[in-house]
Amino acid sequence: MDVLSPAGFVASIRTCETGAGWRKRSPVHHALIHELPFALNPRALIKTRAYKPDTVRDSLRMNERPPARHRLPKITAFAVRAVRVPMKQPHRTASGSVTESPLVLVDAITDEGISGDGIVFTYTASALKPTAELIRNLAASVEGEPLAPREVADRFAARFRLLGMKGLVSMAVAGIDMALWDALARTHDTSLVRLLGYVEKPIPAYGAVGYDGAVDAARCAEHRAKRGFKGIKVKIGYPTVSEDLAVVHAIRKAIGDDPAIMVDYNQSLTPALAVQRLRALDDEGLTWIEEPVRADDYEGHALVAREISTPIQCGENWWGPHDMRQAIAARASDYMMPDVMKIGGVTGWQRAAALAEAHGIPLSNHLWPELSAQLLCAAPTAHYLECADWWNPVVADPLRIEKGMTEVTGIAGSGVEWDENAIARFAA
Ligand SMILES: [Mg+2]
Repeated sequence: MDVLSPAGFVASIRTCETGAGWRKRSPVHHALIHELPFALNPRALIKTRAYKPDTVRDSLRMNERPPARHRLPKITAFAVRAVRVPMKQPHRTASGSVTESPLVLVDAITDEGISGDGIVFTYTASALKPTAELIRNLAASVEGEPLAPREVADRFAARFRLLGMKGLVSMAVAGIDMALWDALARTHDTSLVRLLGYVEKPIPAYGAVGYDGAVDAARCAEHRAKRGFKGIKVKIGYPTVSEDLAVVHAIRKAIGDDPAIMVDYNQSLTPALAVQRLRALDDEGLTWIEEPVRADDYEGHALVAREISTPIQCGENWWGPHDMRQAIAARASDYMMPDVMKIGGVTGWQRAAALAEAHGIPLSNHLWPELSAQLLCAAPTAHYLECADWWNPVVADPLRIEKGMTEVTGIAGSGVEWDENAIARFAA
């Protein structure tokens, strides 16, 4: 195959146009001459001698395409509702238990009558109604604006630079962002992943097991493995390392050799203790060790990541892509798992995915299974999907998992639809 410089390529096209040397060209070269100019300017190609009838016909067909959709829908209203969704059983961690999910459900409605959904998880019921009120206040400032989620996100980021895009403000903005992206995908009658320029693909999913002791953790892990999950993540951080090891061994025995095992310390160790303790886990074949120390202690995590050969996983508690940038700069984590709410909604997630791609970092998610399954399809370094069913009671069509892999084909928007009866039942 010929390899040409740009100048050589231009010269060779000229040679071909005069007919000289035409037969000497390779098929690849021939295709380049026909297809590259066509891609750049199909109409101009018709005027040249380097075309074939098929090319002309295709070009004419292109001219029959419908005109571009120039009208940009406007955001007209929001519906904001607070619910408290009970857990089937409390989810225990080394840093406390989760017994219910206080959620703010956000609907963005456009002047074309399309609505998009977003979920904000406030962790504690005491933050539920203040967050809902905050979302209503912020939403009022974008009513009447074009349905352009990145524009809205950038405007909020500028507006709250002094207050800081963290905590409840960041969560409220993310809920609005998720709803706007969902509405935008539905406006274009497509799924979020296709709106982002990608296609649906299966992502390996793992199930979670709580801080429930070796016997109960192994029983739960076995149940999850029988459902086909590709991995099991278990909460550890018991008073002694031998208890941590006992849980890991019991789970490996219960699920066999194939599924991955991840462990999560939920930020419960100091860096020095983490190094000492994690050395005892280094030969267990764990896929990752999650948040051994405080989430915002990048240097502490970097120390642990240097000293331990098992990959370190962090990210669910980073506020926005700028936190992730700092974590990358500090080499705090081998893998990363941003939370779509804390990282800044769909807009923030895309920026995080770009950072991960640029640094070659495997990317997983935290909660929001329906939305995250699509976002991972649009992440070049997608790794694992965390499949949590906590919010299934209010979601009409929870994420499908088939043979341990996500299945997101045939979905409208971000895949989140409400079960209105359940919402009425759990209204706060
Ligand atoms: Mg975690």
